[in-house]
Amino acid sequence: MSKVQPESKCPCGSQNPYPSCCGRWHAGAVAPTAEALMRSRYSAFVLRNEPYLLASWHPSTRPESVSFEPDCVWLGLKVVEAKVLGADQAEVEFIARYRVGGGSAARLHERSRFVRDADHWRYLDGAQPG
Ligand SMILES: [Zn+2]
Repeated sequence: MSKVQPESKCPCGSQNPYPSCCGRWHAGAVAPTAEALMRSRYSAFVLRNEPYLLASWHPSTRPESVSFEPDCVWLGLKVVEAKVLGADQAEVEFIARYRVGGGSAARLHERSRFVRDADHWRYLDGAQPG
């Protein structure tokens, strides 16, 4: 797992320092919205924080483990739309940019579904929009 300097900007691109952004949720506080959880999962991919990714995955779709592409560098996150569909259901559409090895930058465009269970938002699954 990678460490972040306390004064560093959060990997999710919020422009806030990591400890007052996704760092709070990584440290155990409950992310209040699906969008906050989604951003924190992106940051967890950047930091290779497997325990957080697994804990924030819905048990019905959670994999056994998360494998990180060793050569993958995450370049940025843009949340396109966060939609609350009900008290316990939400969708977040985002574009994450990354580069693998010396290759050109690529985009992951996904609409993720989140469900809330006992106050905890969790990632359910995602699909390519359109
Ligand atoms: Zn953040």
